[in-house]
Amino acid sequence: MTPPQVVVVGSYVIDLCFNCEHFPAPGETLAGTSRTGPGGKGSNQAVAAGRAGAPTLYVGAIGDDAFGRDAQAFYEREGIATHWAVKSTQPTGSAAILVNAEGQNQIIVALAANLKLAKSDLPAIAIDGARMVICQLEANLPATTHALKLGRDAGALTILNPAPLRPDFKATMLKHVDILIPNETEFVELINRLGLHPGKKPLTTTAMLKLPPAKLHALCGTIGVPVVIVTLGMRGCFISRADGYVEVPAFQVKAVDTTGAGDAFVGGFAAGLLEHDGDLAAAARHGCAVAALSVTKPGTAPSMPTRAAVQRFLR
Ligand code: ADP
Repeated sequence: MTPPQVVVVGSYVIDLCFNCEHFPAPGETLAGTSRTGPGGKGSNQAVAAGRAGAPTLYVGAIGDDAFGRDAQAFYEREGIATHWAVKSTQPTGSAAILVNAEGQNQIIVALAANLKLAKSDLPAIAIDGARMVICQLEANLPATTHALKLGRDAGALTILNPAPLRPDFKATMLKHVDILIPNETEFVELINRLGLHPGKKPLTTTAMLKLPPAKLHALCGTIGVPVVIVTLGMRGCFISRADGYVEVPAFQVKAVDTTGAGDAFVGGFAAGLLEHDGDLAAAARHGCAVAALSVTKPGTAPSMPTRAAVQRFLR
């Protein structure tokens, strides 16, 4: 097997999706339809990177239960390498996702085993040989910070998708990060949390989107991470780094389900960095292509495109 070049450390969650006419009222039982699927930001990003052609290792924590065994079987079918921490005291993470007839959703996530990922669970040798280490904020934060630190110490490129921006997120984590990839909401929240907005009132997403590139670039520079890439949904993304600011447009597609678009972007970006020898703009375009293809299909991990599909799309 090719040694992993991309190590993704993060959450696995089984998505339990229910479709119903309307959301149940307290005490009400409704009939509906359901489907289950692998989810969790870490796992989605590992699948996106792996399918897009990057030799990937996924590191995650699951429970000693049927959902955990489903996760292992899913990765075996995908042919993506894994390093599992199996926790006997916690169930596998799960999310109950209700979708009503109008397409609105209500979600409860129980991160469970993901929050028990320990520093000692991390495969230090694999991280040592990797070109990139990718993390998010759904798994245990001290272990996540440690993964970034191990990656940085080993000379790998460290990428953080700061999602979701949990209340216990500490800015000190950012000192181990080379590339920060928030979406527009996370970017604005991060700027406000770190007290970086020069105005009197907190920054809003609407105000951020109206800022001229020079101001956005300057604001990104205050975060203290060498490269900041903010994803902007159908508007694509922008890249801000010491030597400049670049906008990368999204691809026009017919979107049927945009859940997991950000995860597709991060995985696709990582695969693109390998494919384009570290060229950030080319990698971001690759990330946009993977994300565009993923939104044309329902689901999160199952909607991630293969390398062949991405190549056909970009031809
Ligand atoms: P998140 O899912 O984290 O909110 P975004 O909505 O910013 O992330 O989407 C991430 C990327 O996915 C965007 O930069 C864009 O390239 C792509 N994308 C999202 N929505 C669409 C869409 N409707 N059409 C095409 N590309 C999309």
